[in-house]
Amino acid sequence: MGRVAHYHHYEIRTLSTISFEALQLAPEILKALTESGYTTPTPIQAQAIPLVLEGRDLMAGAQTGTGKTAAFALPILQKLLPQASSSASPARHPVRALILVPTRELAIQVEESVKSYAKHTKLRSLVVYGGVDIKTQTPRLKTGIEILVATPGRLLDHVEMKTVQLNQVQMLVLDEADRMLDMGFMPDLKRILALLPKQRQNLMFSATFSSEIKKLSADFLTHPKLIEVARSNATAENVAQKIYLVAQEDKHVLLSQLLQGSDASQVLVFTKTKLAASRLARQLQKDGVAADAIHGDKSQLERIQALDAFKQGKVTVLIGTDVAARGLDIDQLPMVINYEIPHAPEDYVHRIGRTGRAGASGKAISLVSPEEEKYIKEIEKLIKREIEKEVAVVPHKAKSNKGSRVERSGQDHVARSAAPKKPAHDPWFDKPYEPSTNPTSAASQPAQQANKPKKQVAAILVRRQG
Ligand code: AMP
Repeated sequence: MGRVAHYHHYEIRTLSTISFEALQLAPEILKALTESGYTTPTPIQAQAIPLVLEGRDLMAGAQTGTGKTAAFALPILQKLLPQASSSASPARHPVRALILVPTRELAIQVEESVKSYAKHTKLRSLVVYGGVDIKTQTPRLKTGIEILVATPGRLLDHVEMKTVQLNQVQMLVLDEADRMLDMGFMPDLKRILALLPKQRQNLMFSATFSSEIKKLSADFLTHPKLIEVARSNATAENVAQKIYLVAQEDKHVLLSQLLQGSDASQVLVFTKTKLAASRLARQLQKDGVAADAIHGDKSQLERIQALDAFKQGKVTVLIGTDVAARGLDIDQLPMVINYEIPHAPEDYVHRIGRTGRAGASGKAISLVSPEEEKYIKEIEKLIKREIEKEVAVVPHKAKSNKGSRVERSGQDHVARSAAPKKPAHDPWFDKPYEPSTNPTSAASQPAQQANKPKKQVAAILVRRQG
């Protein structure tokens, strides 16, 4: 593979005793933190904040969910505080900190965080991103703002329209830099960087350290301090990972069963393409699952609405592609399901980084077709661990699964003997698959397993491997 070059891993010191006060943050910032319910800094915050306050450039390895946004936002606010002004004149509010992010969703979330931490200061922030009418963003830009959060393309549009000036930027953040490169933002980044004053502080955050990221950091950072809060390509310890081996055409049935059998209130499902995300959302809706898709083809409003509905629990299953799901900040997401396996193993790390956040435990389930097993090997190499595997036998195929994985791999007997708790002639196995939420099937078979989804799942997943 050779894509991933590792930086030397730094020892993580025990920093839990450090307080925000000890990090020398101003009272107005501390007040906002207390109101946000933050009591102690996360490890990335404890490490990054003093370095940023010192004026160092930073290369930080941290995934979403580690508190990385506050790790850069708090010291930025602290450093800009002396320049905060209550003047109404736009000239007194030039853009002093520029935060570049790869996606609209992340842009919105980062700026919401900045705004909440800055709420007792006179510092102003704004977010600009593509996909919405540029004219709506211009009046706010003209009033003057110190902290601008932007996606690269839209920022350049504003530069071209002369609605923003970047000649007073003192601090630059490249957030999720690895993803920005993956999304082809390098030319845009170069153009933007050329517009900034040479004398400035640069902070780069990335979940993974590819050779491209190392090159970017060598080009744009000056004597950076490298900090890492977890091994960059390791997956969170508190995420239980599991693989179900299943034929591609059976994935939908299996997914439906897993969802209905789970008590997870929010599940994020990943597909590889936007088309697959939309199609799957429709199929699940037919099964009676409150599902929706979030992807780049939808309007910004639709994406925000889908995300809000998910956050509020109106939608329990959100289906997205890697790009669409970047930066989604959903606290304590209990479950992530990989409906299709990403070809880049780093994407797996990103995906499952959505769950088990901030100390909560989470589950990451992958539905793996025979064609996808090669990607799993790459993933296991990257995360340096083997993921538990189980062969799934989907109900309507159980009787005639010629050529299925179970028979092909000569494990038929295991599959049968591993389902001993079910009655030998459970009619549920003879029935074609029907969603359990279908009122007619439930009504016609009141005593059947059909309306006990948890047991269905137990019955269709039979063999452990590895
Ligand atoms: P991030 O990695 O920046 O996306 O942050 C993940 C989540 O952790 C967000 O919901 C933050 O509001 C939250 N968070 C960040 N810092 C802290 C902290 N020191 N204490 C508690 N929660 C935090």
